[in-house]
Amino acid sequence: MSKVLTALTAALGDAVATDEATLTAHGRDYWARSELLDWLGEPHPLPLAVVTPKSSAEVAEAVRICRAHDTAVVTRGGGSGVCGGVLAGRDQVVLSTRGLTGLVKLDEHNLLATFGAGTMGIDAENAVAAEGFTIGNWPQSIALSTVGGWVATRASGQYSTAYGNTEDLLYDLEAVLPDGSLFRSRATPRAAAGPDLRQLLLGSEGTLGVITEVTFSLRLKAENAVRQAFHFADFAAGIEAMREVLRQGWRPPVVRLYDARESRRHFRETCPEGRAMLIFLHEGPGAQAEVEAQAVAELCAARGGEAADKQTVDDWFAHRNTVPSWRELFEQGLVVDTIEVATDWKRLNSLYEATLARFEAVPGLVAASAHSSHAYRSGANLYFTFALAPERESMVAAYDACWRGAMQAAAELGAGIAHHHGIGRVRRDWLATEIGDAGVDLLRSVKQALDPNDLMNPGVLIPR
Ligand SMILES: Cc1cc2nc3c(=O)[nH]c(=O)nc-3n(C[C@H](O)[C@H](O)[C@H](O)COP(=O)(O)OP(=O)(O)OC[C@H]3O[C@@H](n4cnc5c(N)ncnc54)[C@H](O)[C@@H]3O)c2cc1C
Repeated sequence: MSKVLTALTAALGDAVATDEATLTAHGRDYWARSELLDWLGEPHPLPLAVVTPKSSAEVAEAVRICRAHDTAVVTRGGGSGVCGGVLAGRDQVVLSTRGLTGLVKLDEHNLLATFGAGTMGIDAENAVAAEGFTIGNWPQSIALSTVGGWVATRASGQYSTAYGNTEDLLYDLEAVLPDGSLFRSRATPRAAAGPDLRQLLLGSEGTLGVITEVTFSLRLKAENAVRQAFHFADFAAGIEAMREVLRQGWRPPVVRLYDARESRRHFRETCPEGRAMLIFLHEGPGAQAEVEAQAVAELCAARGGEAADKQTVDDWFAHRNTVPSWRELFEQGLVVDTIEVATDWKRLNSLYEATLARFEAVPGLVAASAHSSHAYRSGANLYFTFALAPERESMVAAYDACWRGAMQAAAELGAGIAHHHGIGRVRRDWLATEIGDAGVDLLRSVKQALDPNDLMNPGVLIPR
């Protein structure tokens, strides 16, 4: 047994696993490229061990032992990341946060709930829902991801337009830093006392420490909700309606615009061929939802939107978390993935067209489409789906070409390369196009200061 394994086992006992089934289940995340290589018969090697600590103290102990033995630590939550953020090497230890679960504290008076970082999103939401509250974060992967993973990747939920993204919902956090020390951010509703150190961990993807506890600022469950949808002549017309809704100050939790191709795919019954569907969910106390719905309906009608059957939004709710498995698609000869980016309103339609043009230039492309699912006062995201049917030996190259095309399109327009899935391995060499060389140097300096031997999730986030 290696020295690090001996030390980990002596300190943490049965929290350390080395059996093949556990190593296989924890070695990587949902990244389509990893899954594709696996399916093609080129699997990634298994990690050295999986450690599942049951307390922050045990996390600190595991991190200290790995550091003392110069062994890399790959933190894993639910493993639902889609960018290769979890891909542990042969000599690396996976630290699973799934031993840090449950509601630690509910403070109803202050609308605060603290969870172990390894609590699954849906369990966290259900725990507060039972008391009449909501976290308000509904990523499509809510049943597959942990609350710590949400913070580590800056995840976005389907209700973000009203309620915000993870960084807006996070009140405070606790983390074990790369030297094994315990950091707790301040717990105050707002501060003007220097930089906000939560931001170091938000989006850090396991490279700057292990998030062990997360506190969210809650909301009361909405009293009323109204669903409505409108279809537009094309995607650009839908973007304009969306922009106007946000510009006027309305904040429906759900604002989603689908291009004509996706509108046909998702709303065949209610969307006429060639039109772009825009759906809304309005929520709030008293008459707020009705008042907002009425105003939004008038704005949409004035911009050429035609009201669609209410069934449209019901259909979206019924299928909103359904996704096909990569493997089923590979079996059919298809390689599929999604890529989300963001930009301001002025460039949104150009980014849409430029990215689709890049996909269309990739040999083997059979379909490419997009929707926008998160809107802001000054811009929105685009969420692309591409499907390829290449020869077996070209599957990986075609996959890489689509990603390269999307990143190039974003870089050329000065758009954001990642709206919510994070950087992982798939985007890391594009980070400088968004934050510049000076930004990358700053990030490297922070990493060097906290983790001089690059032991926390090496190979992720920071460009080569
Ligand atoms: C079907 C599907 C739908 C999805 N829908 C959405 C969506 O709607 N919105 C969205 O934002 N994302 C979505 N994702 C992506 C993914 O679910 C999110 O990135 C999620 O936040 C990852 O959480 P996780 O617990 O699974 O993290 P993991 O996949 O385990 O890890 C992700 C990264 O975070 C790091 N990490 C995890 N936990 C910690 C921790 N406690 N401390 C430090 N680092 C940590 C890991 O090292 C890794 O780099 C989806 C994924 C799938 C498969």
